[in-house]
Amino acid sequence: MKKNLLGYTLSQMTEEFVSLGQTKYRAKQVYTWVYQKHVLSFAEMTDISKDFRAKLEAEYCLDLPKIHTRQDASDGTIKLLVEMEDGAKVETVLMPYNYGDAICVSSQVGCNMGCAFCASGLHRRTRNLTAAEMMGEVLVMNELLAEWGRHVTHIVVMGTGEPFDNYDNVMSFIKAANDQFGLAIGARHITVSTCGLVDGIRKYGHEGIQINLAISLHAPSDQIRNQIMPISKAYPMDQLMEAVKDYEDNAGRRVTFEYILLAGLNDSLACADELADLIHHYGIFAYVNLIPYNEVVEKPFKRSSNNAIKAFADRLMKRGINTTVRKEFGGDIDAACGQLRSKVITGEGQ
Ligand code: SF4
Repeated sequence: MKKNLLGYTLSQMTEEFVSLGQTKYRAKQVYTWVYQKHVLSFAEMTDISKDFRAKLEAEYCLDLPKIHTRQDASDGTIKLLVEMEDGAKVETVLMPYNYGDAICVSSQVGCNMGCAFCASGLHRRTRNLTAAEMMGEVLVMNELLAEWGRHVTHIVVMGTGEPFDNYDNVMSFIKAANDQFGLAIGARHITVSTCGLVDGIRKYGHEGIQINLAISLHAPSDQIRNQIMPISKAYPMDQLMEAVKDYEDNAGRRVTFEYILLAGLNDSLACADELADLIHHYGIFAYVNLIPYNEVVEKPFKRSSNNAIKAFADRLMKRGINTTVRKEFGGDIDAACGQLRSKVITGEGQ
C-alpha cells in the first residue's frame, strides 16, 4: 500500500526523503507544491527530477477522501460526510464566521468516550484517523471553498473522536497545518479539544507549541459530570483541574472550557456559581465558551432557553470569568456533531 504524504510534518517528510538519498530541500519542494500551489499530482511537480517523481508515484500518494454526502445550511455552514479509502466515513463541518472560515475536524472513526449528550458517541470507535486523513478533511473543504475564492483559516479538532486518544496522528496533522510551508494556519487559529484525558493534557503542555487547548467540561462538579461524561470517573475534577493548571503554567497559554448547557441539568445559576468557584479555586485563567445544545433524537437532553443561557453567561461574567456564547450554525441541517454520520450508518440518511 502506498504511503499518503498528506499530514506528514515537514521534518517527518524531510527524514523520509533523506533516507531515500534525497537532499533536505526536497521535502520543502513537495510541501510547497501541495500546500501553497494546491498541486496533488507528483507528475506536475516540475522542479523535482523525473527519477524521483517516478519513485514518489510508485511508493507514495496524496489521496483525498471522497465526499459521500454534503449538506449546505442557509447560514453558509457546510457539513460533509467524507469517505476514506477503506470506506470509513467521518463528518467534517465548515462554519463561516465573520473573521474567517473555521473547520471542525474529526479525529477518529466513532468515539469511545460515551458522552451522554453526543450523537458521535452513538457509534463506538472503529479506528483512529491518520494525519493524512485529517489533512484530507481540510483539503477537501478547501477545494469547495476555492469556488468563492476562500479557504480554511481556522481549525478546531472538535468533531467525532477524542484527539488525545489519537495523540501522535493529531500532533502530526496540526503541525503540518501550522507549518509556514504547510497550510500556514497560525497557532492561535488552531484549537484541539479534549473531553479531559489528563495524561494527554499534561503531555500537550510540554509540546512547546502555541496551539490552543479547549477542555469539554460541561459540568461544574463530579456529581453532574459523572452523569454525562464517563471519562470523569477515570479522571475526576480535581485531577483534571490540576492538569489544566499545570498546562497553563507550562505552556503559558489560557485554556477554554467548553460548556454545553443542558436544560435542568447544568444550567442553573447555582451551577454557574459552582463553575466560577471551581475556576477561581484552582487559580485558572480560563475562558468559558457556553454552547447551546443541538438536540439529538436518541438523547433525552433539551436545549436551555435563551434566557437561561444569557443568565448563566451574565453570572459568570459578574464573577470575573471571561465568557462567550457560541454562535449557532446549521440549524436547518443535521447540526449536532455526529448526527449526519449516524443517520447514514443506520440507513436513515441514504
Ligand atoms: S463529545 Fe466528543 S469525546 Fe464525547 S462522545 Fe462525543 S465525540 Fe466523543
